[in-house]
Amino acid sequence: MKCYPEYGPTVRRTSAQVRVGHVTIGGDAPIVVQSMTNTDTANVAATVDQVAALARAGSEIVRITVNDADAAAAVPLIRERLDAMGVNVPLVGDFHFNGHRLLAQHPACAEALAKLRINPGNVGRGSRRDDQFATMIEFACRYDRPVRIGVNWGSLDPELLARMMDENARQPQPDDAPVVTRKALVASALESARQAERLGLAHDRIVLSCKVSGVQDLIAVYRDLAQRGDFALHLGLTEAGMGSKGIVASSVALAVLLQEGIGDTIRVSLTPEPGGDRTREVVVAQEILQTMGLRSFTPLVIACPGCGRTTSTYFQELADRIQSWLRAQMPSWRGRHAGVENMRVAVMGCVVNGPGESKHANVGISLPGSGENPVAPVYVDGVKTVTLKGDNIAAEFQRLVEEYVVAKYPAQVDASREKRPDAAHA
Ligand code: SF4
Repeated sequence: MKCYPEYGPTVRRTSAQVRVGHVTIGGDAPIVVQSMTNTDTANVAATVDQVAALARAGSEIVRITVNDADAAAAVPLIRERLDAMGVNVPLVGDFHFNGHRLLAQHPACAEALAKLRINPGNVGRGSRRDDQFATMIEFACRYDRPVRIGVNWGSLDPELLARMMDENARQPQPDDAPVVTRKALVASALESARQAERLGLAHDRIVLSCKVSGVQDLIAVYRDLAQRGDFALHLGLTEAGMGSKGIVASSVALAVLLQEGIGDTIRVSLTPEPGGDRTREVVVAQEILQTMGLRSFTPLVIACPGCGRTTSTYFQELADRIQSWLRAQMPSWRGRHAGVENMRVAVMGCVVNGPGESKHANVGISLPGSGENPVAPVYVDGVKTVTLKGDNIAAEFQRLVEEYVVAKYPAQVDASREKRPDAAHA
């Protein structure tokens, strides 16, 4: 976990390291980006397509729901097809209510999954709860699979909450109900983890999460969770919402915790617009980590917002074109041009901040603003190298960036990555 004490008080948190297939979560491993499909898992073709798209976008782990017998039967077929395509992203099975039965009836499903997610609030009620939870943990032990104990306040164990509310009411100075609810979330995760350990699941085979939909609640819950042990933590704001609201809420919540050294893997739970691209949640997760300086995934484009000095939308179109082009190149550049993900490209709208920002970037262009000469100076590693003009500035600038990549990040042949195009890190 990387922290930034030079930017303010941070607490370095050391967590247990958990292997999920070829990916490592926790310890000093990079913070892992993960995502979840929204296809019907029983629809093998649709699920394979979406998992592959999420993996190509950079998701290092992908979760799929295993909600019924058809879904459980489909999981090994999904794994097989992904392997045949060279997509080796680890799959996590999301189990609720009937997971104990599905795992018993479909052993190939457990075999095909790299991790199980169990929601302790949804494994059964009353006396059956412990037995059903134990059955799932026994499957995890039998197949040597790690488990995420994933608590969600939308499905918090009602018996645990009622017990803690009663205990709280007997206190001389009882806490408010939201405080007790937050404590119950943490207690549910930790009690379930201890139960799993008593059943034989190793400490370093457990990841914990306690997801809520309020930013301040999430921060409070995870600070508490982080202080109470060294389990690897999966961070995510549940039901973050759509569009900018979902992105902003997830970003601010995760940023506060990540800055404090809390969190070993993240998922951004965006609600896609109808027909929207599921991979957006992966891009947002990567951008949270990259803009915080915690990991690098794709060259960053620095662009000014534009103002009355810009004469057209040309520079916005160029910034968009370069950003999209850079992201599209990454599946082939990753592994081939080591370090290219750290590159910064500036696309600026006028001479006010254009040359200065361009000099700070690896490659930068300052387009002409209102009343300026119709020329666009290009800076490479802080030095002005060429001035572009005419109708072909966009294509010429793109070519210059490509030449910079080839020269600065020389091509490397990586046989393992040729075979595993989605492998982000081992
Ligand atoms: S760089 Fe120029 S165009 Fe861009 S916001 Fe600043 S003044 Fe406006």
